[in-house]
Amino acid sequence: MKYHTKNTPGTQETPSKVQQQHFPCGQCGADLEYSPGMRNLSCEYCGHENQITDEPVVIQEYDFATALEALAQAERHPLDSTQVIKCPNCAATFELKTDQHAGDCPFCDTPVVIGTEHVRPFQPKSLLPFIITEKDARTAFDNWIGNLWFAPSALKDKHKRDEKLLGIYVPYWTYDSHTDSIYHGQRGTVYYERRMVTQMVNGRAQRRAVNVPRIRWTPASGKVRQFFDDILVGATRALPRKILDSIQPWDLQNLVSYNEAYLSGFQSEIYQVDLDEGFNQARMLMDQAIRQSVRRDIGGDQQQIHSLNTHYSNTTFKHVLLPVWSAAFRYQNKTYRFIINGRNGRTQGERPYSKVKIALLAITIAVGLAGAAYYLETSGALEQMMYQLDSPSYNYYYR
Ligand SMILES: [Zn+2]
Ligand SMILES: [Zn+2]
Repeated sequence: MKYHTKNTPGTQETPSKVQQQHFPCGQCGADLEYSPGMRNLSCEYCGHENQITDEPVVIQEYDFATALEALAQAERHPLDSTQVIKCPNCAATFELKTDQHAGDCPFCDTPVVIGTEHVRPFQPKSLLPFIITEKDARTAFDNWIGNLWFAPSALKDKHKRDEKLLGIYVPYWTYDSHTDSIYHGQRGTVYYERRMVTQMVNGRAQRRAVNVPRIRWTPASGKVRQFFDDILVGATRALPRKILDSIQPWDLQNLVSYNEAYLSGFQSEIYQVDLDEGFNQARMLMDQAIRQSVRRDIGGDQQQIHSLNTHYSNTTFKHVLLPVWSAAFRYQNKTYRFIINGRNGRTQGERPYSKVKIALLAITIAVGLAGAAYYLETSGALEQMMYQLDSPSYNYYYR
C-alpha cells in the first residue's frame, strides 16, 4: 500500500518480501529472547550480554486528519493478516497466528518477529517493554485470586490450577485532541419548603413541620474548552477489552522507540481496530469528561444537559504496543480469562463465584438483620431514630 504524506507514519516503501527478524547471540549464535525489565538480551547458553540499541526516544504524535486523508486516497485493500514465514533457523515454513507478528517457530521454537508494513498502513512506533516476569505475573495472579471474595477455595490452591501464561504485546491507539464544546441545559438549585407531615410517635399519629427539598430549574448555556492527552484505545479484538481497560494505568511517559528485540520470545498483535474506529471510541471517552466539565460549568446543585456540540481540533495520534500477560484457567468445565499488566502487575479477569460462600454470607446477613430488628424493637432505638426525622435528609411521608 502506498502511503506517503509528510508527518505520517509508514513512510517507507512497502517491502516486496516479508521482513523477518530473529536475534542470534553475538557470541554463540543461539537465539535470544527478551527478558522482562532488561535493556539487553542475555544469552542463556553462553551468558553473553547482547545490548539492545534503543533508538533515541522521539515519541512523535501524528496528525489525525492528514492520516485519514492519506488512508482515503490509498487503495483500500482488504487487510490481510496471514503471515507466512520461513524459519530463519530450521527453514520450515509456517504461519503465525492470525493478527500476530511475533511468535515462535512451531518446529524449533526459534522466536521470530516480522514487520507489519505489508498488512497495515500504520506501524507501531513505540512500546513499553515488559518489566513483570512470568514468575512475577504468576505471583500477581495468585494474590489476585487469593484476595477475591467468593472465589471457590479450590481455585486458591495453586497446585490445582494449570494456567499457562502468555506474554503478549497488545496494540493500542492513543489520541490527543483540543475540544471546544457549546452546551445548552439547566441549572437546578435546591430550596426547602416547609410542610406539615404526620408521623407515628409511640404508636400515635402526630402532626409536625418538616423541610421538604425542591429544585428550581433555570436555563444555562455556555462554552467549555478542554485538551486531552493520550486517550488510550485498545486496538485488539482477540483479548476481552473490558478486562484490558481495567488494568490501567499505563506509564506512557516511559515509552521507548519500537524495537523488535523487545518482542523476541513474546507474541505481538497487529491492530484490528482501525484508526478512525479507534477515534470514535476515544471520542466517547472524551465526551464523558466533557460532560463533567459542562456540569461544573453549569454549577448549582443539579444539572441537566440538553444539547452538547463538540468541535475537535489538532487531533493527533500514536500507535503503541503495551505488554500484558494473558492466560485462562479452567474451573468446573468453564474457561475464565485473566490479564496482568506487564508493567505493574495489576491483575483483572473473569472469575467464578463460589455458590456455597455466597449462600453462607446471605444466611449470615439474614441472621444479622433478624437480630438487629429484634434489638431495635426491644430497646426503643427505633423510636429514638424516629425523633430525628426533622432533618430533611430523613424519610417522611405526607398526608
Ligand atoms: Zn550466546
Ligand atoms: Zn524453526
